[in-house]
Amino acid sequence: MTSHVMNTYGRLPFALSHGRGCRVWDTDGREYLDALGGIAVNTLGHAHPKLVPALQDQVGKLIHCSNYYAAPLQEALADELVRLAGLPDSSKVFFCSTGLEANEGALKIARKFGHNKGIARPEVIVYDKAFHGRSIATLSATGNPKVQQGFEPLVEGFVRLPLNDLDAVRAAVQANPNIVAIFLETIQGEGGINPTRAEVLQGLRQICDQHDLLLMLDEVQCGLGRTGRWFAHQWAGIQPDVMPLAKGLGSGVPIGAIVAGPRAADVLQPGNHGTTFGGNPLAMRAGIETLKIMQEDGLLAHAAAMGERLRNGLAAALEGVQGVKEMRGQGLMLGIELDRPCGVLLTQAAEAGLLISVTADTVVRLLPPLIITAAEVDELIAKLAPLMRAFLAQPAA
Ligand SMILES: *Cc1c(COP(=O)(O)O)cnc(C)c1O
Repeated sequence: MTSHVMNTYGRLPFALSHGRGCRVWDTDGREYLDALGGIAVNTLGHAHPKLVPALQDQVGKLIHCSNYYAAPLQEALADELVRLAGLPDSSKVFFCSTGLEANEGALKIARKFGHNKGIARPEVIVYDKAFHGRSIATLSATGNPKVQQGFEPLVEGFVRLPLNDLDAVRAAVQANPNIVAIFLETIQGEGGINPTRAEVLQGLRQICDQHDLLLMLDEVQCGLGRTGRWFAHQWAGIQPDVMPLAKGLGSGVPIGAIVAGPRAADVLQPGNHGTTFGGNPLAMRAGIETLKIMQEDGLLAHAAAMGERLRNGLAAALEGVQGVKEMRGQGLMLGIELDRPCGVLLTQAAEAGLLISVTADTVVRLLPPLIITAAEVDELIAKLAPLMRAFLAQPAA
């Protein structure tokens, strides 16, 4: 039979039918431990006993209504996001449905911020290996030729620099008066789990303050508790001006948000931006309940502790293995870089009952639900380490 689904993904040959906690089952009844969480989306795992009844309640009341009307659930979720981000009271949030949309909106804020300052052709600093999405503007901001190829001409107005290089930023800002913002993932996800160093984040904050630029931190993947803090930049003790969010915010219900601090909060005015699905009651309820459950169940501390256990356990299980280059990340966002492309591990892991991802060709990426238990972390290690050992014992191609 011909498939009528557009062929844009490399898919494994099984379909998932249902899940519970960190377990999922395929349509043939095979069980998997989920160490991918729908790519950092299923914060609370699957079929969470508190989230499910809340969403059922919301579906029975109101799934969608237009942004023509007052939106109390948007108000509630915006209040909570501003509070958890520790941002001043004058901060504001715009709601959308995906990560790329949050980033697209952030880029619009940067451009209008520039125009408001009299800069007619605003430019934004972006980074090598960055991933910001697949719309025309966000793929242009992305630092991966594979994502861009075939979709030229790219959107102009980006200056690309290497990550963790403050001197390069200072030089670019000195040389180019059109720069209005610095846009980066606090921890790069798709690019291979590459953290921005704390002192670099602090330096970027300083440069942005000195030169009246917006610091825009894409926390679509690394935010929402995954690193053991609400937002990954909080480890560096800084605050962004603009913070796009998505993935984990709704525990699986599509949702995105742009959190804007005081300098960016009022850049977009009535008529400047909008989206039909953004801020709909179902997505808002999913966000509100996710944040509430995370607090009730202490999931930040839990993510930090389980991340430690995972990292230490894997390091011990892979000790002395040739071909393991580096382990990077924080909390339950972990990348293990190997000395060779390792996409085949994804299939081998699935055959062994484990869902993982491989990104940037050579990096095994783990993004389990934040509810993962100690026993499940140990099981993850027990399943994954032998596969990696066997894989690396073969001669590199
Ligand atoms: C996944 C991701 C995006 C894009 O999100 P979509 O919801 O797929 O559009 C943007 N930025 C980062 C850091 C991501 O990980």
